[in-house]
Amino acid sequence: MDFRLSEEHEALRDSVRDFARETVAPVIAEHYERHTFPYEIVRQMGKMGLFGLPFPEEHGGMGGDYFALCLALEELARVDSSVAITLEAAVSLGAMPIYRFGTAEQQARWLPKLLSGEALAGFGLTEPGTGSDAGGTRTRAVLDGDEWVINGSKAFITNSGTDITALVTVTAVTGTNPDGSKELSTIIVPSGTPGFTVAPGYSKVGWNASDTHELTFDDCRVPAGNLLGERGRGFAQFLRILDEGRIAIAALAVGLAQGCVDESVKYAKERQAFGQPIGNYQAIQFKIADMESKAHTARLAYHDAAARMLAGEPFKRQAAIAKLHASTIAVDNAREATQIHGGYGFMNEYPVARFWRDSKILEIGEGTSEVQRMIIARDLGL
Ligand SMILES: Cc1cc2nc3c(=O)[nH]c(=O)nc-3n(C[C@H](O)[C@H](O)[C@H](O)COP(=O)(O)OP(=O)(O)OC[C@H]3O[C@@H](n4cnc5c(N)ncnc54)[C@H](O)[C@@H]3O)c2cc1C
Repeated sequence: MDFRLSEEHEALRDSVRDFARETVAPVIAEHYERHTFPYEIVRQMGKMGLFGLPFPEEHGGMGGDYFALCLALEELARVDSSVAITLEAAVSLGAMPIYRFGTAEQQARWLPKLLSGEALAGFGLTEPGTGSDAGGTRTRAVLDGDEWVINGSKAFITNSGTDITALVTVTAVTGTNPDGSKELSTIIVPSGTPGFTVAPGYSKVGWNASDTHELTFDDCRVPAGNLLGERGRGFAQFLRILDEGRIAIAALAVGLAQGCVDESVKYAKERQAFGQPIGNYQAIQFKIADMESKAHTARLAYHDAAARMLAGEPFKRQAAIAKLHASTIAVDNAREATQIHGGYGFMNEYPVARFWRDSKILEIGEGTSEVQRMIIARDLGL
């Protein structure tokens, strides 16, 4: 058993760590406060090759693997989660469906821009009326001659309304299966298509420097060739995308949990109470020791899930466990880090306030904690 990183993975982790500390940290609080999208950071992440990490070079990728993406997400989230989720959604939800299921033509048209970070793509699964129960999708697409006509709406779609968003992949009901269930398919809708409207950004509790919108499709017409992969495979496609995505979200959650440890250690050494640094008190030391233990075990869980995935072994249960555990401990660590900071922990100028606001969504997005438990129980034969 070898838990050490390869030289390549270690070098990547170190360069993203430096980037997060030197380039993201100084400017992100202002973006967060003003709810502005960090275009310059995205541009620099593109130059570093982060958007192409897990894709082959023939498509313009870096020839790395999914674990490399996870390491990058962990290091970014250790400093800021809005930037991390922008990369996670762009790669794992935006470009990945086109890479995995797209035709050669779709790949050639979209992947070079998406993998360089020049453009972003969104993944439109959730609807205002249905999230966990994706089978309840109501958006419909009807084939009319050589065009799909799409009607419906999608909720909470990340990266769907930036100035550089090129497309959204949308799941839609395209018919009825022989057993009477809905036939779901995935369709590429380029930004700016008539009938495709992006609502103004939501007012969110956290992830305030990331881009999230409700989308509506009103007799929106796209060419029949924009179908992603086979008709009727929409359900299988998003299950695969979400299984992988859970490992990435777990890595992001571990980063946030570790960031809470970093900030708490620093503060506990500086802050004086009753004549000495609060870090001298065992009550504070034990809190931080527990936080470090939680981040460490959650990291092992996502490394295990990623290793299974890369080995081509079943990984659904391990990915759900990693996501469930990492998101739970991220919320725990954010709460404790805020407590250690006392009143300053409630002030937005301290990173832990941002971590606290950004932690809760980790128990909700890409499958709630209840959904992760359903996946684990199902995999155990229940
Ligand atoms: C900031 C943000 C970004 C997002 N980005 C995207 C994106 O890019 N693309 C996208 O498609 N979606 C995105 N989402 C949507 C997200 O994935 C959903 O919000 C999430 O899957 C939960 O769905 P829901 O909100 O409809 O909650 P619901 O499914 O309505 O769930 C409500 C509650 O009921 C529980 N519940 C539901 N069913 C069961 C059950 N059978 N047993 C027990 N409990 C149950 C849930 O766990 C939850 O606690 C984003 C959401 C947010 C907030």
